[in-house]
Amino acid sequence: MVRAMRVVALVLAAGRGERIGAAVPKAFLPLAGRPLVVHAIDALAACDAIDAIVPVLPRDGLDRVAPAALGAAARRKVQPAVAGGAERQDSMRAGLATLPASVELVAVHDAARALVRPEDVARVVAAADRSGAALLAVPVRDTLKQVAGGRVAATVPREALWAAQTPQVFRIALLREALDKAQAEGFRGTDDAQLVERLGAPVEIVEGDPGNLKITWPADLAWAEAAYAQRRRGDAA
Ligand code: C5P
Repeated sequence: MVRAMRVVALVLAAGRGERIGAAVPKAFLPLAGRPLVVHAIDALAACDAIDAIVPVLPRDGLDRVAPAALGAAARRKVQPAVAGGAERQDSMRAGLATLPASVELVAVHDAARALVRPEDVARVVAAADRSGAALLAVPVRDTLKQVAGGRVAATVPREALWAAQTPQVFRIALLREALDKAQAEGFRGTDDAQLVERLGAPVEIVEGDPGNLKITWPADLAWAEAAYAQRRRGDAA
């Protein structure tokens, strides 16, 4: 490691990904021939603000991110993989437990968001460096319906609603405090920012890219293939 490890990304890839219905865990499904988790690690490594990357992988697949599959920047930054836990929050705790004392900021990222843009990673890290906690998010585009018994109960005003993405970046002490409180209270969040919000700490929103999709359903993978190919054509032009 050339410089001190101050900003570390945890790439969470230990989920089974049952919704996508494949035999391999979702994070290992191929996109343009390389596993989603490899794309995610390469994208984070391409961001200068990230010093090191810790993959959190299934216990029986700790050797599945071969350094040879990674780009040059990722090979420099990637750390030994850590075994994840039963739920996403457990995987995050496992990753966090391995970080050295030099770490000040932690960027938590879903491996399933394989197409995150390095420039968006840089913006959300900079925001958290200023304010302590920040996440990428996009304004909700659809009209939202609250539904009960198959019928519309209400239309939810969407002006103030944003869809949370990752990376979500936190000062490490804040994230540890938030996790400890959640753990002590048996609270399970659907994202990490929610745990920090429960402390009453401010969490900044950084507008991200709708293309930073969490690949969850088979159709998402087909969409991601097309988006990736288009991006490659754009880079080549
Ligand atoms: O299941 P979900 O789509 O919420 O997973 C989000 C991310 O968290 C995925 O990248 C998945 O691999 C990861 N995860 C994990 N450990 C778990 C469950 C999910 O690392 N136990």
